[in-house]
Amino acid sequence: MGAITIAAPLPATGLFADNTFRAPGGPQADEVVNPATEETIGRVAAADAGDVDTAISAARRAVDAGPWSRLSPRERSDALYRLAEVLASDYDRILAVVIAETGCPVTAARAHQVGIPLRHMEYWAEAARRPKLMSRDPVVTTRANGSGVLGSWVVRREPYGVVVAITPYNFPFLQTVMKMGPALAAGNAMVVKPSPLTPFSTFLLAEAAQRADLPPGAFNVVAGGAEVGDALVSDPRVDLVSFTGSAAVGSLIAGRAATRLTRVVLELGGKSALIVCEDADLAQAVRAGVQSATYHAGQGCALTTRHLVHRRVWGDYVERLTEELRRVPVGDPTDPRTGMGPLIRPMAVDRVDACVHEAARRGATVAVGGSRGEHPRGYFYQPTLLTGVANTDPVAREEIFGPVIVAMEFGTEDDAVELANDSPYGLAGHVLSADPARAFGLSRLHQPGCTVRRLQAVRLRA
Ligand code: NAD
Repeated sequence: MGAITIAAPLPATGLFADNTFRAPGGPQADEVVNPATEETIGRVAAADAGDVDTAISAARRAVDAGPWSRLSPRERSDALYRLAEVLASDYDRILAVVIAETGCPVTAARAHQVGIPLRHMEYWAEAARRPKLMSRDPVVTTRANGSGVLGSWVVRREPYGVVVAITPYNFPFLQTVMKMGPALAAGNAMVVKPSPLTPFSTFLLAEAAQRADLPPGAFNVVAGGAEVGDALVSDPRVDLVSFTGSAAVGSLIAGRAATRLTRVVLELGGKSALIVCEDADLAQAVRAGVQSATYHAGQGCALTTRHLVHRRVWGDYVERLTEELRRVPVGDPTDPRTGMGPLIRPMAVDRVDACVHEAARRGATVAVGGSRGEHPRGYFYQPTLLTGVANTDPVAREEIFGPVIVAMEFGTEDDAVELANDSPYGLAGHVLSADPARAFGLSRLHQPGCTVRRLQAVRLRA
């Protein structure tokens, strides 16, 4: 595996604290590999305990002594607008780096990996301008003796303080921006730890913070894996942990943070349902179905990977979906004709393949896919559709995080809702019907006692 040249220079890496890049103290350097070519893009040295301390101390100072915490809303907004401008001027480079480290096809990456987060950054720059203090109308309360009490009140928005952000590998730039925008707009200072699989996008943000001349300590970055993440979460000087990643790691982090009563925000995995009603436009449904499995090779939390299809259209839907999945161009993510790129690492390919083959051994039918395909290099897996699976089967319950759909048949709407809600996850859900009112109504149904897992989103298709 040789180093490759990507279209744009990589950012500096290491410990980013107080707006300065420093050599990290950690002994190990994580190799960052382009999953489409298997070539090494670069190496990023992990932080050690001293680096974690330096980064948190920088953020703490920015909160406790300023200047970041002392800026007026307008000054903070101006700083974030400068950051948004620097990032917008670096669009092509960000796109190249994100594609090289994630393997996400360029057509999807343009919008979702880079374009949308850039718009988010502008939104938060504007939001930072909102006044911290809002007065409310006075309220008169009547006492028992008939006299009145005039109460007046204000709402004052306060930052939490030091926010630790831990992000997953699949949307590295977007995930960091989605945490950075609101946290900084509210006046928090941050320490971010990106995934060691895709760290460069976050260091692009560090570089941009430096170029935009953000006050020292407002935005800090440390590299590394579980050990560094754990050190951040365990530090008593942290006021809030914002984590996006797997349910397994989220639960570890929640446990760790609970021992110090640190606030935690968790955004975790999914096994979301796509309900195809008998009146749905099948061509549209199949397009949505293909997208749900192939988008970033199935490496998305809210993708609909369980397709629940009405008995009357089941045969037709499965036949058309199989045909369309077979046609998806899998390959080079830099080619705009590519529909699906690689998985992140060989381990991910092995895991997906094992899930599919174990399901087949238990009786599932592999309607299409179920193999790595013919690729001279890269961590590819073919779009795969499994049928003949019960909702109790592990392949219908666990997040596979690869291009694998499990399709199941239902007879009545009640059956569809019951199947959709019978899942350990509850992140998203889609209903496809020709009748928007029906789709909306169906999306609101849930089984008694299952409020957390009910369908939480609806995409209407008339
Ligand atoms: P992961 O849970 O393996 O890792 C996420 C981050 O946590 C990484 O930065 C990792 O280094 C760090 N980490 C690992 N162990 C840790 C520990 N003990 N303490 C602190 N930090 C630790 O997730 P991943 O494989 O990078 O990403 C895929 C997962 O993320 C999927 O489950 C996906 O559904 C989920 N995800 C959820 C959303 C959402 O918004 N709900 C968005 C994207 C991804």
